[in-house]
Amino acid sequence: MRDRPTSVDLPAPRPSACPGLLRIVQALDGGICRVKLAGGVLSSTQARAIAEAAEHCASGVLELTNRSNLQIRGVLPGQQVELIECLRAAGLGPSNPAADDVRNLLLSPAAGLDPQALLDTRPLAAALLELLQNTPALHGLSAKFAIQLDGGEALAMLEHPHDIWLSALPGSPARLAFGLAGCPGDAPLGVINAEQAVPLVEQLLLLFLQLAGNEHSRMRQLLSVIPASQLLQQLQTRLPFAVQAAPIDWQRKPVSQHAPIGIYPQQQAGLCMVAAAARLGRIDAGQLRALADLAEQQGDASLRLTPWQGLLLPNIPEQSADKLLHALAELGLLTDVQEPLSHLIACTGSAACGKGLSDSKADALRLAERLRTSTARPQVHISACPRSCAAAHTAPFTLLASSAGHYQLYQRTPEAAGFGQLQASAMTIDEAGDWFAAHCATGNSDA
Ligand code: SF4
Repeated sequence: MRDRPTSVDLPAPRPSACPGLLRIVQALDGGICRVKLAGGVLSSTQARAIAEAAEHCASGVLELTNRSNLQIRGVLPGQQVELIECLRAAGLGPSNPAADDVRNLLLSPAAGLDPQALLDTRPLAAALLELLQNTPALHGLSAKFAIQLDGGEALAMLEHPHDIWLSALPGSPARLAFGLAGCPGDAPLGVINAEQAVPLVEQLLLLFLQLAGNEHSRMRQLLSVIPASQLLQQLQTRLPFAVQAAPIDWQRKPVSQHAPIGIYPQQQAGLCMVAAAARLGRIDAGQLRALADLAEQQGDASLRLTPWQGLLLPNIPEQSADKLLHALAELGLLTDVQEPLSHLIACTGSAACGKGLSDSKADALRLAERLRTSTARPQVHISACPRSCAAAHTAPFTLLASSAGHYQLYQRTPEAAGFGQLQASAMTIDEAGDWFAAHCATGNSDA
């Protein structure tokens, strides 16, 4: 008897442009395999398995995504089946092969650890993932359809819009505000008790699929034809409990939106988290293997990926934290907020993406070099086309390629939609560096 299915048992992946573990999508540098991690968590054993598979079956280049997942780039021709089998053997596949696409649930990388958290979201997240994976009717959701579960942590990404979001409210019993097509900072649609979250999400997803049909794949598209209040009314008829009114005075506490770098306290006495950023969201297999070693030697043998395309090692004894941070820097990760690269995001760009108008990663490195000669530390997203793959949110500044080597510069403002207000229509990357040096105040990376 086989203890796990082989590739011949796997259903054909649904057609989609999104990579998955079972759907390896081609790019100019080879195949891309996206490994979805529950809660962004990776054990050291799994990290080693990924490193080995990435070296043996692919280029060894790994990308950390803005949904706390990991992508293996440069998958070699003829190596796809072996790669998938290695990953599944390491427990990295979905519990139901038909459900790989729908495992899109974002948590704080500090879930269960953050001293400011109102709720440990991990048990509820496990129940929601089980619901998504084990309910065949939900497997028709788009591979992009995503849910955020926010426990009120200080270390939380609150800028990525999600199709459904739930956010813990203060007080007892535990309650969650929820909303659609937005972020926990938005006005909520209603409130539920925490134990009602699974049936709420289940009925909301089934209602979405019923109303959206084949025309709408995302919640924001459905809300463009059906008001949220009407959707809530229909949802209520499906639920055995009453959705509570949204509190008018509740606002999710704002937190820093900078990529976490450094040492962060934990609610567990004597322990802390140590976070670092990856250079332009990438690490290599050797770095991942070294991270697995560090997680075993210094922590609890686990790593957590963050939605800032970085990573965090949890449960580190406080007395070891400085040494670990130093080791992460030695590995080539970014551990200093004064390093300009730690504030830059760049998409794959023309080096490996056919849609790219510019080599955004190379240009980001050049911009960082230019910024090192100034005190400006702006948060900049460099995108080689308008699809904006690297950032799910609007960055304070966006450099959008208009041709090879030239960019439009946008600045985020409350009144301007999209990337923000156009500041310059055709800049070289050096001119952009000079602009930031002249316009961004010292030490204020949001300026
Ligand atoms: S933003 Fe455009 S160029 Fe960049 S990776 Fe996405 S599709 Fe490719």
